[in-house]
Amino acid sequence: MKTLVVGAGFAGAVIARELACTERYNVTVIDKRPHIAGNAYDPVHPESGARYHQYGPHIFHTNSGDVVDYLSQFTKWVPYRHQVRAILPGGQSAPMPINRDTLNTHYGLTLSSDEEMRDYLGQIREPIDEPANAEEHLFSIYGRELTELFFGRYTRKMWGLELSDMPISVVARLPVRYGQDPHYFNDEYQIMPADGYLALFEKMLDHENIQVRLNTAFDKAMESQYDHVFNSMPIDEYFDNEFGPLPYRSIRFEHRFNEVFDHDVPTVNFTDDGRYTRKTCWALYPACGGAPGDHVTYETPCSYEDNDFERYYPIKTVDGWPQRRYKQYEALAKQRDNVTFIGRCGQYQYYDMHQVVANSLMIAQKFLDGAR
Ligand code: UDP
Repeated sequence: MKTLVVGAGFAGAVIARELACTERYNVTVIDKRPHIAGNAYDPVHPESGARYHQYGPHIFHTNSGDVVDYLSQFTKWVPYRHQVRAILPGGQSAPMPINRDTLNTHYGLTLSSDEEMRDYLGQIREPIDEPANAEEHLFSIYGRELTELFFGRYTRKMWGLELSDMPISVVARLPVRYGQDPHYFNDEYQIMPADGYLALFEKMLDHENIQVRLNTAFDKAMESQYDHVFNSMPIDEYFDNEFGPLPYRSIRFEHRFNEVFDHDVPTVNFTDDGRYTRKTCWALYPACGGAPGDHVTYETPCSYEDNDFERYYPIKTVDGWPQRRYKQYEALAKQRDNVTFIGRCGQYQYYDMHQVVANSLMIAQKFLDGAR
C-alpha cells in the first residue's frame, strides 16, 4: 500500500517508520521546509559553527520508558537536567520554577526548610478551593504578587492573553516546589540525543520503504495517489478555514553572536514587560558545542500571521472557543476515511515531543490493526 505522510517532524517520522518496518507499506514523506526533523531541527549555525535549535529549545523529558526505548533505536543519549533562571526586578536571577531559593533571593528571606516555605506561601496565597483559570490556580499557590512577577507578564508576552483567560494546564506544566531543586522538570527520564535531533531523524527516516521529498508543499490532489494520508498540517488550513481560523501563537528568534552570557544555566526567562520571554545559550546544551558567548537566541512571541504563518503553539482559552472550533474541524476530519490528522497542528494539541511520539505510535498501531 502507498501512504503519504505530510510533515517530517516527530509525528510524521514515527508513523512513517512504523509503517515502513512492516514491509507492507511504501511511505512517501513530504515537507514544505528544506529539512527534516520539524521544529526539533538543530543544525549547525554557519555563523557560530555550533549546533542550535532553530525553532527554539527542545528539551526531552518523559516518564515513559516505552518512548525512550523506541527512540533509542535511533540515538544514544546523554543525561541532561534542564535548569532555568528568571531575572528579578533588581537584576539578580533566581531559579524558575519558583523554589525556596527564588523566594529567599527575591524577598531577602532565610527560609531553611520545605515547611518554612509552605508556611510563608500559606500567608500570601489566596484560599481558592476550585480555581477556574490559570490566574486563580497561581493565586491559590503563590498569591498575587509572585503570580504577577513570575507568570503574569511572561504569559501576556507569550500568549497575548491574561492569565485569567488561560487554562490551568498551561501554567501547570511547571512543577510547584518547596525545596531547593533547581530543575525545570520532574520526569524520570531527562536525556538528550547525544548527536542532536537531526541525526536521530536521519536514522529514523533511513529505511528502504521511506522516500523523503523536501521543499514539497501538500496539495489535496496528491491524496488520490495514495491509499492513506497522515497529515500534520494545520487542520483549519486543510479545510480552507471553513469554520474560521484556529488561533496559534508563534515566536520570532533573534540571534546574537559574541555576546557575554554570565549565567550558569542555558535558559534565562525575562519577568519584565519588554518583548522578550527568554534567551538561550546553546553552548550550555548537550550536543551543541561552542563557547557560551558564541550564540545566544532571544525569543519574541507574536501572532502567527506576523511570522510567515509559522504556527508553533495552539491557543486554548478558558471560555473554550478555540477548542469548540477545533471540535468542528475534528468532526469533518472523521468523515474522511483515508486521512488521519497528526501532531500539534493536525490535532490542535500543545504536545511535548514525548507525547507526540507516544500518540503517533498509538495511531500507527491502530491503523495497522485496522488494516489486518
Ligand atoms: N510561564 C511563565 N513564566 C515563566 C515560565 C513559564 O509565566 O517564567 C508560563 C507561560 O504561560 C508559559 C507556560 O508557563 O507559556 C509554560 O511554560 P513552558 O516553559 O512549559 O513553555 P514552552 O517551553 O512550551 O514554551
